[in-house]
Amino acid sequence: MSQRERFSRQIRFAPFGPQGQQRLGGATAAIVGCGALGTIQASLLARAGAGAIHLIDRDYVEESNLQRQLLYTEADARQGLPKAEAARRHLLEANSGVRIAAHVSDLNPENADDLLSGAGVILDGTDNFETRFLINDYAVREGIPWIYGAAVGSYGIAMPIMPMPAGDSACFRCIYPEPPAGAQPTCETAGVLGPVTSLIGSIQAMEAIKILSGRSESVRRKIFTADLWHGPIREAGMPPRDPECACCGRREFNWLNGRRAPVSLCGRNAVQIHERRRPIDLVDLALRLEGLGSIRSNEFALRFISGDHEITVFPDGRAIIKGTTDVGVARAIYARYIGN
Ligand SMILES: [Zn+2]
Repeated sequence: MSQRERFSRQIRFAPFGPQGQQRLGGATAAIVGCGALGTIQASLLARAGAGAIHLIDRDYVEESNLQRQLLYTEADARQGLPKAEAARRHLLEANSGVRIAAHVSDLNPENADDLLSGAGVILDGTDNFETRFLINDYAVREGIPWIYGAAVGSYGIAMPIMPMPAGDSACFRCIYPEPPAGAQPTCETAGVLGPVTSLIGSIQAMEAIKILSGRSESVRRKIFTADLWHGPIREAGMPPRDPECACCGRREFNWLNGRRAPVSLCGRNAVQIHERRRPIDLVDLALRLEGLGSIRSNEFALRFISGDHEITVFPDGRAIIKGTTDVGVARAIYARYIGN
């Protein structure tokens, strides 16, 4: 297929044009989180002809994702494929010319350089503030633009962060100096609607395409918010940079330099345990767990159900334990089935 024909409709759009297409084709985007927002971003960027896309996601496809995570299929959920890998396969079906790297991994301070370096823009498809602060630290330190986005219920928000030298906008910590205190609504507790995540992911992808095609001056430096059920849809001006900001002012990259919490709540009756790197042979583990519960395993993950708990173990030793929010219980289950 001729590249010119494939991309003819967007090349025809004068502000983008053939120059934009050429720049986009040589550019790389990193997408952190391949849920509803990330799959929309990835689809639009791959179809638009981005040169390379790094997909970073630690989770696997489940049936409850299919309502809004448009890249995935029932077969992906049945096979329990990691989202990054399932996304990679479907994106290549849409455009085999894109270089796609699928990282079945958590973004953390140790791997941020490996996973994000070379990206011309970073897209937020995460569901937690901890990772957003980490992205912000990395983006400000390296001077890479990133596009914040979040959605829950019928509400969504998107905002481009353009740090120096690419821009001079407020950074995420200028606006949110600390993570919000207390419990926050999540997609598990408050639900989420597909049109909202698709809208927010599309806005993020649009700003990313402007940046990667060399048209950063056209980025809309606004905070976009929308409640698609109750209204309204709004755009507010971004506040100016805070010269006292710990991140972009004092350049203290606390999240990038800090140590990650060894155990974290996943926000949906689940605890993730990632205390240390310990390669685990999933074939061997499946043999050891035989007869103790139901097991489903592939090269990317092993899922084990015993009683009220579902344990998913990854080859790097990380595990997600569903059916509890009690860290102690989760640790005990990990110790019981996987060992210390
Ligand atoms: Zn700042």
